[in-house]
Amino acid sequence: MSATENLPIFDALVIGAGAAGLFYAARAGERGLRVCVIDHAAKPAEKVRISGGGRCNFTNIHTAPENFISENPHFAKSALARFTPWDFVDRLDRRGITWHEKTLGQLFCDGRSAAIIDMLLDDLRAAGGELRLSTSVASVEKVADGFRVETSGGLMESRRLVVASGGLSIPKMGATGLAYDIARQFGHALIPPRPALVPFTFEGRAKEDFSSISGVACPVTALNARASFDEAMLFTHRGLSGPSILQISSYWREGEDVTINLLAGRDAAAELTAFKAAHPMKALTTAFESLLPSRLVSLLVARGELPPVARMADMAHAAIDALVADLSRWTVKPSGTEGWRTAEVTAGGIDTAELSSKTMESRLVPGLYFIGECVDVTGWLGGYNFQWAWASAAAAAGTGAD
Ligand SMILES: Cc1cc2nc3c(=O)[nH]c(=O)nc-3n(C[C@H](O)[C@H](O)[C@H](O)COP(=O)(O)OP(=O)(O)OC[C@H]3O[C@@H](n4cnc5c(N)ncnc54)[C@H](O)[C@@H]3O)c2cc1C
Repeated sequence: MSATENLPIFDALVIGAGAAGLFYAARAGERGLRVCVIDHAAKPAEKVRISGGGRCNFTNIHTAPENFISENPHFAKSALARFTPWDFVDRLDRRGITWHEKTLGQLFCDGRSAAIIDMLLDDLRAAGGELRLSTSVASVEKVADGFRVETSGGLMESRRLVVASGGLSIPKMGATGLAYDIARQFGHALIPPRPALVPFTFEGRAKEDFSSISGVACPVTALNARASFDEAMLFTHRGLSGPSILQISSYWREGEDVTINLLAGRDAAAELTAFKAAHPMKALTTAFESLLPSRLVSLLVARGELPPVARMADMAHAAIDALVADLSRWTVKPSGTEGWRTAEVTAGGIDTAELSSKTMESRLVPGLYFIGECVDVTGWLGGYNFQWAWASAAAAAGTGAD
């Protein structure tokens, strides 16, 4: 008799009790599969709990493939089309979880994000699924009719293995590279993982300058050759943050510049010209204070990016236009990012080339699935990453809207 003969054989063993893993497990359980979810953490779905400032920005009603970064921009299309933001909203509505749109299509819970975790766990229980927390994975092996997984709770066997253990962001919350290790073990290629949706850091003068106005925020356009985002920017003790910066960080590579339009969304030249006509004896800095936070204006003067003493009367139109042009393409060179410690997501990950876009199943190893953040599909800030977690999980479970 083999040592494993009496093991329960699951239809699906899910590694990772996060958004994707729990959503998959409930859907697969509802379809009659015998499912078990394991997680090395003591509590499930910790990222759901802390997300969106505790209210979980669980989806974005503007979700489209263009809101995701991947080596293959077409990969996410099928799953996103088959499980839409409204399909998730419908689940919340049926559960009585109320929500609101905050801005830019971002949907948040009215109450705490724990309501979503409770929904995920209740669905799992109702579908007969098991959840084993504080269970770590020692090894994974392919066997004749499935997978054998050695865990801290003993050996487990399953016909399908669904890897939903996320990316590398925020190791303090339990993030590990297990998904990448399993992918490599079975011959999958990786797109090098990198921190994304992460603040920029600076060194030297720029660091000193930006930290001197830490807490100052203004609306900007942050852009590079790949993308452009109109949202707020925040000066911090380490450099730059705020939604526009987090967004562009996902498109940034080490050593590159980032261009910031500090005068985004307004006709600054016209406003300054009108100011000059109305207040010719006032200082240029006073005029700029009608466009930008005054501490930022002082910093720009200190950096030599605005003339300190000029009166508006002394500023020719061409000189005003030149200043506006400079501040519309204010260029900064981050020395790096805050890295995995604060990155909201991991860009890169398991190469989609060897995954089915319909089911998330490996093309190399039948029965092996990768879902959620571990896959090379990374959403913008604003609920897109959870939408990918739900949609990729639904695709793997073979279910769309229901
Ligand atoms: C601070 C913060 C705020 C965020 N806010 C939002 C937001 O408002 N909206 C949005 O769309 N996205 C948000 N995100 C991103 C979002 O949380 C993730 O994209 C999403 O949780 C990914 O889901 P997942 O299930 O793939 O992975 P995760 O949620 O990371 O789940 C992975 C699970 O696997 C477990 N695990 C990891 N390694 C192992 C191992 N070796 N063995 C066993 N188990 C393991 C982990 O403990 C975890 O429970 C936020 C992220 C952070 C960090």
